[in-house]
Amino acid sequence: MDQLSVGVVKETAPRERRVALDPDGVGRVIAAGCAVVVQAGAGDGSWFSDSAYTDAGATIATDAAGLAAASVLLCVRPPAPEIVNTLRDGQVLIGLLGLLSDHDLARTLAGRDVTAISLEGLPRTLSRAQGMDALSSQANVAGYRSVLLAADVFRRYFPMMVTAAGTARPAEVLILGAGVAGLQAIGTARRLGAQVRAFDVRPDSRSEVLSLGASFLDIESVTAAAGEGGYARALTDEEQAALVDELATHVKRHDIVITTAQVPGRTPPLLVSAAAVDGMRAGSVVVDAASSPLGGNVAVSRPGETIVTSNGVTVIGADDLPSMASTSASAAYSRNIGALLLHLLADGQIGIDLSDEIQAGVVMTHDGAVVHPMVAAGVAALSTTPGHS
Ligand code: NAD
Repeated sequence: MDQLSVGVVKETAPRERRVALDPDGVGRVIAAGCAVVVQAGAGDGSWFSDSAYTDAGATIATDAAGLAAASVLLCVRPPAPEIVNTLRDGQVLIGLLGLLSDHDLARTLAGRDVTAISLEGLPRTLSRAQGMDALSSQANVAGYRSVLLAADVFRRYFPMMVTAAGTARPAEVLILGAGVAGLQAIGTARRLGAQVRAFDVRPDSRSEVLSLGASFLDIESVTAAAGEGGYARALTDEEQAALVDELATHVKRHDIVITTAQVPGRTPPLLVSAAAVDGMRAGSVVVDAASSPLGGNVAVSRPGETIVTSNGVTVIGADDLPSMASTSASAAYSRNIGALLLHLLADGQIGIDLSDEIQAGVVMTHDGAVVHPMVAAGVAALSTTPGHS
């Protein structure tokens, strides 16, 4: 049987600097018996040169067409339409493909008979899947970077400073959403010397927040909003409105507010209203780490933009935090995607087996069909949506 050829795509999304496999990852994939071909310049945004890839044993394809012969393509973000249009029968595409929400792309990939494997679907609580958990590794980078972004534009110190020129009080930081990104943000802000408070709707988060030395913000309007699989449930409209109102009184007391709240399969919940931002002091900073084209946690944030409000509050729609620390983010992602690829190998080839719990979560399309039940339901709904057929 031919040696399995694995291609590494150069990312094309705006401001995306990550790469799916770093040179160390190439070494691990080659050691598992595969050949690796890397699109020229794929690692540039993370400072991995083409020569570092060839030193690790990869060959370089001068353009996307040079990857066409690869049986498996690895990417971070969903590939651009020009690449999707070149995918061929039986090719395997692995990445953070977003197919749980992008049902059009799922249908296209199934129609091209591509086996689409998306890391968002990983059963994250399964201990043997933890090395493959790209959502956690990238959220971790995002949480860290969100604090540095805030510190960079904040025109005061984070720690208390006692100097001959006087004493500066520490910055007061509020973190909303204490999952993977929020906990990393708490740790990073604490290491910089800030006073940190945090809030999350999941009751379990309280002990995690306290264990990092932050205080937990007591909110009366929402209690115990845990959902399935360790995630939060969506709030009712009444709970949501009461939470936003109650948070506004806390937001205005803080110098820095970082929001990281997400509910799987939903647009991010609104937590910080325009009125709450209006109530903040001049010089305060808000980082919306949940910012996306579908919305974020902060009413006035815009994805990819930094705005300064008329009352002097800097609001950052931070939609590319992992890409800002692309070398670390790529190294972690490379471990995750490499571990998944090796898990899928059977006798040196990709062996699809949907009875395996990990594969049942990540394999979205196969053999010309959408095989993931949640994605299949979304694709079926497309045909009843006006404008789709
Ligand atoms: P996520 O990205 O879906 O959400 C981020 C945080 O936002 C969550 O903590 C969520 O509770 C919070 N949130 C949602 N709605 C909110 C609201 N209205 N107000 C305030 N906060 C709100 O979640 P995540 O960070 O990927 O993970 C969530 C949990 O799952 C964490 O406890 C994490 O430790 C756990 N987890 C466990 C494993 C594992 O067992 N290996 C792996 C991954 C995650």
